[in-house]
Amino acid sequence: MTSPVSLFDQEIGRLNDVLCAINLLGWDARTQMPAGAAQMRGAQVATLTGLARGIATGQAMRDAIARELDHLDDRPGSALRRRAVLDTQAAIDIAGRIPEKLVVEAAALKTKAQQVWAEARAKNDFALFQRLLERTVDIQREIATAIGYVAHPYDALIRQYEPGMTLADLQKLFARLKAGLLPLIDTARGRPQPRLDVLERTYPVDVQKRFALGIAQRFGYDLKRGRLDETVHPFEISFTREDVRITGRFRENWLPGGLFAIWHEAGHGIYEQGIDPSFSRGAFVTDILNLYAVGGTSFGMHESQSRLFENRVGRSHRFWELHYADLQQHFPESLGDIDVETFWCAVNAVRPSFIRVEADELTYDFHVILRVEIEAALIAGEIAVRDLPAIWAEKMQTYLGLTVPDDTRGVLQDVHWSAGMIGSFPTYTLGNVMGAQLFAAAREVPEVAAGLHNGDYLPLTHWLNHHVHRHGRSRTPDEILHDATGSGLDPAPYLRDLTEKVALLA
Ligand code: ZN
Repeated sequence: MTSPVSLFDQEIGRLNDVLCAINLLGWDARTQMPAGAAQMRGAQVATLTGLARGIATGQAMRDAIARELDHLDDRPGSALRRRAVLDTQAAIDIAGRIPEKLVVEAAALKTKAQQVWAEARAKNDFALFQRLLERTVDIQREIATAIGYVAHPYDALIRQYEPGMTLADLQKLFARLKAGLLPLIDTARGRPQPRLDVLERTYPVDVQKRFALGIAQRFGYDLKRGRLDETVHPFEISFTREDVRITGRFRENWLPGGLFAIWHEAGHGIYEQGIDPSFSRGAFVTDILNLYAVGGTSFGMHESQSRLFENRVGRSHRFWELHYADLQQHFPESLGDIDVETFWCAVNAVRPSFIRVEADELTYDFHVILRVEIEAALIAGEIAVRDLPAIWAEKMQTYLGLTVPDDTRGVLQDVHWSAGMIGSFPTYTLGNVMGAQLFAAAREVPEVAAGLHNGDYLPLTHWLNHHVHRHGRSRTPDEILHDATGSGLDPAPYLRDLTEKVALLA
């Protein structure tokens, strides 16, 4: 006899169904939808989001949690169950602390702010966006106060994306990264630039897609439960582990933009596809605090998987020794006269730049550090929004030696602040660090190391599945790192990898 589905499972299942529908509408809006439908789609998503919030914080969910807690016993299998229920209860509690009025205003402001931000960016006019950003910061400060924190208001915002992480932890991490990375950047900058023109030759988009997807499948991305579509800003999105979609953006005259973004998104997708089937529609694939249908335990851990496949594997020397001949066969006219060393150096070129999403591995984290320092100071009320362009320019000069030419390529470049996302930037660097840490631990396993040497990536993916993916949100990032690597967050493997790469690039 099968046991009846509990009220708790029913409520979480309903919530997850609504969140998956929101995801599907979002995927459609960014890949297929005609532009004219934007306003109606916004209304549809708002309605469904209200519905999801109602389920998450409603009486039925509270009753279901109370009943579940009454019936939990001490059998070994109950520990996971207890955790699911208590995590859900804690998330509802935090969400409940944020006044409804603030939630509604934040949602309305987001729609408006994103429009105005896009216009301000196009016109290089920060003043146009300033007032809305000021209100966004105020709202986020009020949210931080409502959620509560011990040391710094920014901690309350970070925890929405990276549970367990604080500004103090980040500052320690950033100090290590600055000390390790700045001398490497200096070394790399003192050398002649690799030949980037090689990457700007003609690369037909359909051939790019074929090659990139072939590799993504070798990494373990399952096309029977996935698909690839085109978009402006690539992303991965899932509607349960059985339907995990990735998107890419391809340019005929810039090869790495398409390839590495696909491997990045495939890394996210492999994570979602690898979640334990027993969590489908369950508590560990539903982020109640952010109202997302996702299986990853945190933004940082998610990013660790994408960065791992994109950079630790996809930009490694061994990877291109194995696959460059195949790439040449896909593009004989553009790559016939280029050897693997020239190509590998080109896709690993170090060149400080203004735009975060185009940054190389060595300079990328400075784009993040700069943003996090600004966000923390904004939330603490130590700096004013109107001074951001000047502060931005000063930090770019300090960290990367660059003079920012305009606000479009400076403070206005990212969509995050207009979307009210303050506190999510740290997760990009956390992803880099965790990805390298997990990769180093995986390579200790002989089958994984042999696979990487021979171009068989499935032992690596199986290791990641065992230690990271299958757990969904049932383990914290810190628990996963300790179990998989024997220690908490540690930047040493990341710095070691980049030091080796710079030496090899000589
Ligand atoms: Zn990502």
